[in-house]
Amino acid sequence: MLNIDKEKCTACGICVKVCPFDAMHLVNEKAEADEKCTLCGACLKVCPVDALSIERKRVDPSKFKDYKGVWVWAEHIDGQLRNVALELLGKGRELADKLGEPLGAVLLGHNVGKLPEVLIQHGADIVYVSDQELLAHYTTEAYTDVIAALIVTEKPNILLYGATANGRDLGPRIAARLILGLTADCTGLEIDDKRQLVQTRPAFGGNIMASILSPYTRPQMATVRPNVFKAPDPDTSRTGEIKNVDIKVNKAAVRTKIVETIIEIEEGALKVDEAEMVVTCGRGIKDPKNIEIVAELANELNAALGGSRPIVDQGWMKHHQQVGQSGRTIAPKLYIACGISGAIQHLVGMRTSDIIVAINNDPDAPIHTVSDVSIIGDLFKVVPALVKELKRVKAQK
Ligand SMILES: Cc1cc2nc3c(=O)[nH]c(=O)nc-3n(C[C@H](O)[C@H](O)[C@H](O)COP(=O)(O)OP(=O)(O)OC[C@H]3O[C@@H](n4cnc5c(N)ncnc54)[C@H](O)[C@@H]3O)c2cc1C
Repeated sequence: MLNIDKEKCTACGICVKVCPFDAMHLVNEKAEADEKCTLCGACLKVCPVDALSIERKRVDPSKFKDYKGVWVWAEHIDGQLRNVALELLGKGRELADKLGEPLGAVLLGHNVGKLPEVLIQHGADIVYVSDQELLAHYTTEAYTDVIAALIVTEKPNILLYGATANGRDLGPRIAARLILGLTADCTGLEIDDKRQLVQTRPAFGGNIMASILSPYTRPQMATVRPNVFKAPDPDTSRTGEIKNVDIKVNKAAVRTKIVETIIEIEEGALKVDEAEMVVTCGRGIKDPKNIEIVAELANELNAALGGSRPIVDQGWMKHHQQVGQSGRTIAPKLYIACGISGAIQHLVGMRTSDIIVAINNDPDAPIHTVSDVSIIGDLFKVVPALVKELKRVKAQK
């Protein structure tokens, strides 16, 4: 329940302004909540005198059956859905079918256009749309307010977020607001025989895979990195329901605004987590000036250039180029690793690539255990030879 400390309340009225359900009122110069209050918590964070608090109790497991549906947060930037949202719809469809429950997509934004239809084509049965100017760009406060309120009213069973910068910000905020569990960076999601979501992720530095359950809270929530699951092909014949959500965001509730967007990746540069081909180098490169040798191979193939963590830690490449557990998870069609040993933390970020080529002069390097093609040799000889051959083939064409 919502507790209002009448001693502390100064009747400033901010909670009345931010309540997405018009449930807060000033009565006799004190705040009061009526029966429309959903305990979404939007008022708590804005009260300047901490007069409001919510006593949240764990959901009684006998009430879990009231929580239905698998939801995916449909993140988008500049009118373009993030690929990870589509990948999660693919996995979400599988989970929803196993549970016999609907698959929902949660779409927040302004002038969202045809995005609801695209989500339906990728597997959503219901798209919950909140289209308001204050949601035009992602902000932690506005997005948390709307999604938390939606969870409280609609009671989904599962909610999945892409482990993007924004997803990693939003998931924990909602978990903290509603006191829910959240598993970060899952690499596997399954339903067990008790209909619980089994959330698998690497633990202890990637040396074991942990299976995590949320037995006490609903919805069960997880973030998943891009490229862990494959996005389904769109089916233009699919139909679904578009539900406009009546949860208003008030300006007073949003204390941050986007002043400027700075794109870290140079214009035209291929991103390791989006490119079809990726060439990386590791400590075997020995000196930053040698990166040019590997960059030439990437250039000939029109592949993205990346590196292992030591290369990034030494400042030889940018963090967005790092492949692995604490970098990007990638699944390109072709992955060429030059002078990378294949530590577990590197492998978890690239082992789902379609074809893996390892160039390493140590025949016992672990990278060879996951590679389709192992070239045991000196990268300073092998890579220039590959570049030469590619140039020759191109010239012939
Ligand atoms: C919590 C945690 C998170 C981490 N996250 C990541 C991550 O995201 N990504 C990541 O990559 N690592 C990560 N690491 C680090 C990881 O454990 C390894 O230390 C790292 O991957 C090793 O990088 P490397 O393969 O480039 O270097 P090394 O292990 O030193 O391997 C260099 C390889 O180059 C070969 N070589 C040397 N000379 C040549 C030559 N002339 N020609 C051909 N081959 C040659 C060697 O045989 C060797 O196999 C993480 C570690 C921890 C603890």
